[in-house]
Amino acid sequence: MNMNEYIEQAEHDLLHTYNRYQIVLDHGDGVYLYDIEGRKYLDFVAGIAVFALGYHYPGYDETLHAQIDKVIHTSNYYYNVPAVEAARKLKAASGMDRVFFTNSGAEAIEGAIKAARKYAYLRDGTTDHEIIAMEHSFHGRTFGALSVTGNAHYREAFEPMIGNIRFAGLNDIESVKKLVNAKTCAILLETVQGEGGLRPADKEFLKEIRSLCDQNDILLILDEIQCGMGRTGYMYAWQESGVKPDIMTTAKALGCGVPVGAFLMTERVGANSLAAGDHGTTYGGNPLACAAVSKVLDIFDSDDITGHVREVAPYLEEKLDALVQKYDFIQERRGKGLMQGLKFDRPVADVINSAMSKGLIIINAGADILRFVPPLIIEREHIDEMIDILSQAIEETASA
Ligand SMILES: *Cc1c(COP(=O)(O)O)cnc(C)c1O
Repeated sequence: MNMNEYIEQAEHDLLHTYNRYQIVLDHGDGVYLYDIEGRKYLDFVAGIAVFALGYHYPGYDETLHAQIDKVIHTSNYYYNVPAVEAARKLKAASGMDRVFFTNSGAEAIEGAIKAARKYAYLRDGTTDHEIIAMEHSFHGRTFGALSVTGNAHYREAFEPMIGNIRFAGLNDIESVKKLVNAKTCAILLETVQGEGGLRPADKEFLKEIRSLCDQNDILLILDEIQCGMGRTGYMYAWQESGVKPDIMTTAKALGCGVPVGAFLMTERVGANSLAAGDHGTTYGGNPLACAAVSKVLDIFDSDDITGHVREVAPYLEEKLDALVQKYDFIQERRGKGLMQGLKFDRPVADVINSAMSKGLIIINAGADILRFVPPLIIEREHIDEMIDILSQAIEETASA
């Protein structure tokens, strides 16, 4: 079948929950993707912040192959070596104390919510606790995660949500304080908002949230699913501010392509929340996924991936700032490290499609923001190549 035939077949068989771009991808190599007709694309999406190490990073495939040859799944009722090693390394990378592996980001959020509710239940013996989340946040599509997602459009048709969720404004500490009461069990936010428009939480805001939590025995949950794993130049974005969460979620780049996530907590929360029988998952943390996590964390360590991000990200910022200067319809740049957005005064769909036709894969975050979440291994020359194609796409669509 040719590309159009595959697309037609897909639209016939797959549930239409995505408006997909009109390409069928076949394979990747470094920071490039190839479609089934052999066209090459510079990849500035990385499977949405998943392929931090690009495609076929040295040693990664070999590790997975070796694990496939041993065993890919056992059960969480038995121990396995990759899970033991992955947990130890993830603790070292995050500074957290206890790890629960999941299959996805949303599942990590579900676990974090359950841990917070159980903590509060043990604290005061009641059950109707509240969680404060942020407007414009995104935490996933399952019911718990959707309930704390601060975008009514995503939730509307699926009401009722899990209940007792309150929304405050990011970087507006007064709006958070107003919602705190004796029933509050957790404050949940992305350290840098992703889908909601590449908005970082200010250091001062994080500090004030932290002390609000400490004063009221409220748990701080930081969602690092998109902004974590080195993307901001720190292994986890909160590490820049020094404001440590009580519970943290991670996924996306954690396995660099193998579906895996995790929620982690401090020893204090671990000892006073979920206990044997309270939570589980069949696949979560299976040997294949954990072999990937373990190898990814080794590579981050040995090849100083976060150092590379800190080195190359300012160049991307400089180039994006130049676009903001040049075009009055580009209003601002937002984000941190290799998690950047350009806010347009108009929809960006045409720019994305034009760029794709010229060999650049790029994505939006909301209708009017272009999002840049490339593999963390990009070099300056790739940024130049991206800017070159993007500029052509912007010129073409602006004059159309
Ligand atoms: C992608 C994302 C999620 C959901 O992760 P899934 O693996 O798609 O379930 C949750 N939170 C944030 C910040 C995300 O970017």
